[in-house]
Amino acid sequence: MSEVYNWQLGRPMQYPYEERHPRQQFAFVFNINRCIACQTCTMACKSTWTFSRGQEYMYWNNVETKPFGGYPQNWDSKLLTMLEKENPYGQYWQDAPKTTHESPYGRFEGKTIFEAATKHYDETGPKRALGYLPTDDEWNAPNRHEESAKGTMWAKQDWGGSTQLPEHKVWYFYLQRLCNHCTYPGCLAACPRQAIYKRPEDGVVLIDQERCRGYRKCVEACPYKKAMYRSTSTTSEKCVACYPRLEGKDPEISPNGEPAETRCMASCPGRIRLQGLVNIDDAGRWVEDRWNPMYYLIRERLIALPIYPQFGTEPNGYYIPPRWVPRSYLQQMFGPGVQHAIEQYACPDRDLLNVLQLFRTTRQIIFRYETVPGKKVAEIEVTMPDGSTKVQEIHNDTVIGYNKFGVECVRTTVEEPTFERPAELHVNSI
Ligand code: SF4
Ligand code: SF4
Repeated sequence: MSEVYNWQLGRPMQYPYEERHPRQQFAFVFNINRCIACQTCTMACKSTWTFSRGQEYMYWNNVETKPFGGYPQNWDSKLLTMLEKENPYGQYWQDAPKTTHESPYGRFEGKTIFEAATKHYDETGPKRALGYLPTDDEWNAPNRHEESAKGTMWAKQDWGGSTQLPEHKVWYFYLQRLCNHCTYPGCLAACPRQAIYKRPEDGVVLIDQERCRGYRKCVEACPYKKAMYRSTSTTSEKCVACYPRLEGKDPEISPNGEPAETRCMASCPGRIRLQGLVNIDDAGRWVEDRWNPMYYLIRERLIALPIYPQFGTEPNGYYIPPRWVPRSYLQQMFGPGVQHAIEQYACPDRDLLNVLQLFRTTRQIIFRYETVPGKKVAEIEVTMPDGSTKVQEIHNDTVIGYNKFGVECVRTTVEEPTFERPAELHVNSI
């Protein structure tokens, strides 16, 4: 094992390989508050990559309803239970005295999947990551428990009622998932054939189909269960981050080779998804880049949080947490940054509101944005999560996004243009 630095945990951790980092890293932000669970993303991915024999059960992108849903079923609660068993009462976060760039959420004192595996062995020797192989039944029915709500009256473990809507004592939310193209991937760590690699140009994690022998160690070790076995090829497969699009190979979207977002991102009608590439320095740190929307949302404003950072793979999928869900549940899933993220989202300031406009405005990847100030158009009183009130000022700023080559690829405004149909011409006008 080597020692590597995991900024999401705020500490060094053990990993089977030494630090090695790509020049840029594929990353994405999902705004859970806006998802309508239409599954357009799921089907965009399915119809592009997993429509063949042996792939019937595969959903590289899926959207499940939490807290009961899961694909495969109970993937997260099973692993959380295994980690707790390895380190009873030790899986907790130490609050940081103040937020720093290298430990923005405090320090995780528990064991990651790599650190908790040391006492476990399989036929090849010591295990490199704690995990399990889901059963065939668990992969079935990927959207079971869709919109099943959780309340307090029958709860064994009391997460509490809905936070934002106390008149409804139940809650659920949609969780959008795909491979996180982790910085320290569990799948890569566990592969005895070194068939899994991380591309130096964009950090995308791929399985070399020539080298793979279908041992399924990656399926077992990926804590997010995003590596999947295909019986017809007897190899494992996973999300490829639509790499031809990232490389600007789609002639329609990228006539001049501009990097484009993946299919699941680009198809989202809920406009919850924004994907990008962030610059990484030789030591593996994110290069400061305030005008890159990804950097701004994730590192500058800390409004988008990694999913289950305590697993230790440093996932590159980030989520703006849902406002109405009990905080204890969200903190288990997204770490200690939840309250701060929700407070900002509840009443976004002018800069934040501008960046939030960029979600799903272009299929090209936005590398940089800028704003042109507009006039004040509204003042709204907002009730904050703690019950206090704040006044939000809304300015109709123009937000401009630029692609990899510095060419403008989108221009939008905070206020959406509206058109009112003349009532005398349309009986259904309101
Ligand atoms: S396409 Fe967008 S809104 Fe629809 S389920 Fe997927 S993430 Fe949610
Ligand atoms: S999410 Fe799973 S499959 Fe994807 S890189 Fe991380 S460990 Fe590997």
